[in-house]
Amino acid sequence: MAVIGATESEGAVGRSVMENLLDGYEGDVVPINPNADKVLGLEAYDSITDVAGIDLAIVVVPPQIVNGVLEEAGEAGVRDVAVITAGFGESGSEGAAREQEMQEIAEKYDMNLVGPNCLGVISTPVGMNATFTTKSALEGSISFMSQSGAFISAVLDWSSDHNIGFKDVVSLGNKAVLDEGDFIEHWGDDSSTDVILGYLEDIENGREFIESARKVTQDTPIVVVKSGRTEAGASAASSHTGAIAGSERAYEAGLQQAGVIRAESVQELFDYASILEGQPLPDNDEIAIVTNAGGPGVMSTDAVGDSGLQMASFTDETLESLEESMPEEANIFNPVDVLGDAPADRYEQALDIVLEDPNVGSAIVVASPQSIDFRDLAEVIAEKQQEYGAPIAASLMGGETARNAKDIIDEVGVPTYFDPARGVKSLDALREYSEIKTTDYGVASDFDVDRERAREILERTKERETNKLGIEAMDLLDAYGIPTPDSAIVTDKQAAVEAAKEIEGNVVMKIVSPDILHKSDIGGVEVNVAVEEVASTYDDIISRARNYQPDANILGVQVQEMADLDAGTETIVGMNRDPQFGPLVMFGLGGIFVEVLEDATFRVAPVSEDEASDMIDEIDSAPLLRGARGRDPVDENGVIETIQRISQLVTDFPQILELDINPLVATPDGVEAVDIRATIDHEEL
Ligand code: ADP
Ligand code: MG
Repeated sequence: MAVIGATESEGAVGRSVMENLLDGYEGDVVPINPNADKVLGLEAYDSITDVAGIDLAIVVVPPQIVNGVLEEAGEAGVRDVAVITAGFGESGSEGAAREQEMQEIAEKYDMNLVGPNCLGVISTPVGMNATFTTKSALEGSISFMSQSGAFISAVLDWSSDHNIGFKDVVSLGNKAVLDEGDFIEHWGDDSSTDVILGYLEDIENGREFIESARKVTQDTPIVVVKSGRTEAGASAASSHTGAIAGSERAYEAGLQQAGVIRAESVQELFDYASILEGQPLPDNDEIAIVTNAGGPGVMSTDAVGDSGLQMASFTDETLESLEESMPEEANIFNPVDVLGDAPADRYEQALDIVLEDPNVGSAIVVASPQSIDFRDLAEVIAEKQQEYGAPIAASLMGGETARNAKDIIDEVGVPTYFDPARGVKSLDALREYSEIKTTDYGVASDFDVDRERAREILERTKERETNKLGIEAMDLLDAYGIPTPDSAIVTDKQAAVEAAKEIEGNVVMKIVSPDILHKSDIGGVEVNVAVEEVASTYDDIISRARNYQPDANILGVQVQEMADLDAGTETIVGMNRDPQFGPLVMFGLGGIFVEVLEDATFRVAPVSEDEASDMIDEIDSAPLLRGARGRDPVDENGVIETIQRISQLVTDFPQILELDINPLVATPDGVEAVDIRATIDHEEL
């Protein structure tokens, strides 16, 4: 290993890196520094080109000369480098240009480059600490990457106190070359890594990240905490979808689609890592709680309610055995209360019975230090965990007494927390991971659509001053096989009457203007218009629009067949482009109150049938679609297909920047899109 910029100067990064490497690294360390003969007793070389057989170069020279030494390293055949030096993309235009040049050099020599602007890398199996931190990592099977170097220093300091060990630790820095996706793929192939952890502030290439993570997560769990909830993009949006979307929704969808377990805090990140590393996966979603106190039992039960776990319902056999062996006052139903006077062996009896129950997938043992010795209890927990091989978490609720018992259950990877809710959440992460392992993401369907016709419709925007499309573009949906009601756009009232006569029953009339985005807001939509009223309604709509916006480009009035809103529900299907993840498809409860209700869910396109179907499950109003209050359930397949067809449309045409179908009226007999709005990047067409 070469340290380019190695030095003896007190306080210099080049010295800390050398000292850390010399403390434990199994291979040879070669200092490179033209101004020194020796560094910390080792012979120093003027240039990396003077040494052969370097596997990894750590670069700590000043930013102005980094690219020069990288060229030399490339020439010398070095393929792996970590650039610790800062002063690149994070620091203004000069730095950004340097980073660009760095990328070109890496490309030219096919270099794996970590950084720049990072803390370095650690790999414990070979004792390598190529960072400038004061603490290294304990050996373990978690591989950890972080976009914040300072956070790594903090984690290393803290983790050794908590007996958490690592296989590799990587400070990602500016991610000029290698990014989170590369490390995920690498660790996915690494048999010494059992859990992958990430602290990420952004994901640059969302779709690629999803693909990389999906390949890995069937075998190795990935847990990520994502910070920085910026709202880039959302403010400029003119669609409903755009207003609700925003990057947090994109990350939520993207990480879920990637099969990544998301931690909401740094504490959860390590809670989940520890339990994934230490415990087996549950056979089912049901959890048993065994406690010696009522209050903590209730807290645990509440935590189960907030999680994806279910309270286990015990078999009759279990209940009978508990009844026989527990004192009369004990509660034998879940949560099992073994009572405040319970010694460790009463816990043992209870655990033997519930862990034997086939309905129980996992268990949490909760104890307050009443008349129990925590060390005895810890022995019991460890023994039962080994005997039954079910995942267990503990909540030994105490201070010193709990800490004193911790080493016993640590031995078998059972975590303990003061707060039982943390234990339940950790077990829930195991459940989530077993679900991820068996997820079949499916492939997006390829519908037979009229792509050419869609292109022609989109190209109409070229002749206009605005890049917006309104209901005059309903035929775009037609081209992609999405059902729309009969309708005609007319430019005088006689034609309006004729059009209404063609349609059976009363009609809906709407202003058609790409400049008027929210038609009903200005009185531009009249529903349930009888034929006799059509002519006067035509005049009303036109004059209201003129009043509202005298210079609006009015294309006419649309006369549309009524959708059956009595039997149907207004939903919304939309798309907004996210800078990181690309096309983000939304499904939710539609109508004019979408932004108020915000009952919506998102997926990164292309969306598969399974994913589209999950989207319906995810919204709070799902029961409205499924026959609440005696109504007939709507045609869910129609909704699922529409989501997928929109996914195909926006994947086929990256020029569509945002799009709303609001409402897509879903009835028991099918779905109908009665309104559309889109923003088009016409320069790209
Ligand atoms: P905008 O969203 O621009 O106000 P819409 O075309 O979505 O205009 O119409 C507003 C509302 O009018 C819809 O949310 C729906 O409640 C009702 N509506 C529109 N078209 C129809 C239709 N064909 N059948 C029944 N109701 C409709
Ligand atoms: Mg609408």
